[in-house]
Amino acid sequence: MSRVLLTERVLVARAQREAAHRRRHLRTVAWRDGMRCRVDGRDLLNFCSNDYLGLSQDPRVIAALRDAAAEGAGAGASHLVCGHGAQHAALESELAEWLQAPRALLFGSGYLANLAVVQALLGEGDVCVQDRLNHASLIDAARLAGCTFKRYPHADAEGAARQLASHAPGAALLASDGVFSMDGDVAPLRELVKVAHEQQAMLYIDDAHGIGVLGDAGRGSVAAAGLASSDVPLRLVTFGKALGSAGAAVVGDVDLIAHLAETARPYIYTTAMPPAQAAATREAVRIARAGNDLRERLRANIERLKEGARRHGLALMPSDTPIQPLLVGTDTHALAMAAALEDRGYWVAPIRPPTVPEGSARLRITLSAAHHAHQVDGLLDALAQARDAVIA
Ligand code: PMP
Repeated sequence: MSRVLLTERVLVARAQREAAHRRRHLRTVAWRDGMRCRVDGRDLLNFCSNDYLGLSQDPRVIAALRDAAAEGAGAGASHLVCGHGAQHAALESELAEWLQAPRALLFGSGYLANLAVVQALLGEGDVCVQDRLNHASLIDAARLAGCTFKRYPHADAEGAARQLASHAPGAALLASDGVFSMDGDVAPLRELVKVAHEQQAMLYIDDAHGIGVLGDAGRGSVAAAGLASSDVPLRLVTFGKALGSAGAAVVGDVDLIAHLAETARPYIYTTAMPPAQAAATREAVRIARAGNDLRERLRANIERLKEGARRHGLALMPSDTPIQPLLVGTDTHALAMAAALEDRGYWVAPIRPPTVPEGSARLRITLSAAHHAHQVDGLLDALAQARDAVIA
């Protein structure tokens, strides 16, 4: 018998990635202060984090983490055994209140929460219909759920309706990112609500990048679209982006949430997040909710970047959110641009397939309220120089 050897297979796969410029390398941040950081001995300005409001280093959030850590580092068990504490319960009710949703349920991460929602609700004979550019965790969720999985062209609500109509029997979930993570644009939420209603499908919006940033009091993309919580029965909120901590919650309909809490495997079979992480997130929610000043600073940075890009002839992708990608096209150009930026002291992540579709490698520039205007100006100059050096 000659079996395939996994050790050999991984080496072949690595060589293929190398040849295709698709290797991924871990970078270690040795130190950080606001958006300044030290990576591999170099001082860089970070323009690739999702810390949109700068809360990951807010002294109030750090103090909440530290204070709550006095009662222990870990939760000790899953929520349903004995890991659900007062900090978790308080965070859930404060999230529900902020987002005007009936109930919230915590998860270890947004990735796990997406697996939980789709697996707990759908199975064989059901259909999950998704935007083609949805986050990988939603795509994996549909694949693991064992349901039929259909995708529609990006932001095409009519395409969503067609896909739903083509699979009549069984339950249907229509799932979309609220803000698309690699593009920065916002889903056609009002149209999706209508399609879900007409097709008797449930709508699930992953608002990982909208929460804290968009809408009144930072309530996210659903609120910004003028929709009520009842229009979107389930929503994902993640804590690792604008809220500056880690973890996630699904908010929405009481019965649906109760079903997740009792049946979703990524909820049941995993340790609850550390109570101190819940405490830090509670403080972050409080700040984000009242943080119109932070959102104004962020908005000013977004406008400054967009306006400067126009002046420099840099064609940013159409986006009004903190995610402002610059489409480059080839993987080698994206890598070379990122390296040229780094030489000038700016850290911007080159995003290549399979994270984005083939031929659409890009620099995913992200902005934060913690960036200063002169830093945005500096990035613009560096981008123009890198473009001239690499592409011209
Ligand atoms: N959904 C979207 C749209 C995301 O961008 C991400 C994170 N990249 C996730 C879900 C996963 O969230 P987490 O990082 O909490 O696992």
